[in-house]
Amino acid sequence: LSAQATPTELSFEGALRPGSLDEFVGQAKVRKQLRLLLDAATIQQRSPDHILLAGPPGLGKTTLSMIVAAELEKPLHQTSGPAIQHAGDLAAVLSALTPGEVLFIDEIHRMARSAEEMLYLAMEDFRIDIMVGKGAGATSIPLELAPFTLVGATTRAGLLPNPLRDRFGFTAHLEFYADDELADVVRRAARLLDFEIAPDGIGEISRRSRGTPRIANRLLRRVRDYCLVHGTPGDTESVHAALHLYDVDEQGLDRLDREVLYAVVERFGGGPVGLSTLAVSVGEEAETIESVVEPFLVRSGLLTRTPRGRMATRRAWEATGIPMPDAL
Ligand code: ATP
Repeated sequence: LSAQATPTELSFEGALRPGSLDEFVGQAKVRKQLRLLLDAATIQQRSPDHILLAGPPGLGKTTLSMIVAAELEKPLHQTSGPAIQHAGDLAAVLSALTPGEVLFIDEIHRMARSAEEMLYLAMEDFRIDIMVGKGAGATSIPLELAPFTLVGATTRAGLLPNPLRDRFGFTAHLEFYADDELADVVRRAARLLDFEIAPDGIGEISRRSRGTPRIANRLLRRVRDYCLVHGTPGDTESVHAALHLYDVDEQGLDRLDREVLYAVVERFGGGPVGLSTLAVSVGEEAETIESVVEPFLVRSGLLTRTPRGRMATRRAWEATGIPMPDAL
């Protein structure tokens, strides 16, 4: 049960997306910061500063970009870093923006380098230079753009080049949600899905959702399936049975979290182990381990990052059930 969305899940997610800042659960600080930014821009009748949303997948970055556009009552154009392979791809998007439009670039750290430079100028001066021709005869033609607000999303703010990071007026760091906040997410989704679920069941789903609304909504859907098929009410028993069936860990750890944890404890004797060695040993990209798995394991008190590498905590040894050697 990864935090990434599956294609069939997208329509379901759409139905559950909060449409305004007030409906958006949790992230109290980010909501206040955004509210101020948007209100100030509205008073001055200008586009708000560019916004960078940083944090692990499934915490609501796409949702927030939609909320920014909705609050400003402006259209939203959505694209992603991997879709921008050349500066020309970006020029096409930028030149089609209407005044005040919100441009959302997901995974902005994966955009082509040549496009990044074009984006600097566009963000700062609402202008781009388009190169025409090749070699000695090449000339650049300036093109004025409509003022727009860029909302960039990234799982790795650290991977963005400084000049790009500096051009965002505000960076929101999204944190994993607390259990009571996730309970609000689940309660809200159950209401929208017209599914009656007991308070204990809501608590159980929230505790096992890896601090992530996307996962909470997904587990709720599995529990609803279970109740539908078995004709049972949405009580604690059904929740337990459904989560057991889907192998959802007591602490909400998913398959990759567990693999990483076992690798550090078992294969590397509790660490320290370097990121790339760890990534190879579980057959994943280092970037995924660093931006998706590690933040949650660190927050759960299972892993620590030291200058010499990643280390398992006493709690991690206990969680795996492997006896901790006396020497550690
Ligand atoms: P990714 O980067 O993987 O696309 P994301 O951070 O953009 O993830 P979203 O797609 O915005 O995440 O959110 C995932 C799901 O979680 C959506 O169904 C959304 O409705 C729900 N969700 C996210 N944050 C909240 C929230 N604060 N309150 C209620 N629902 C939320």
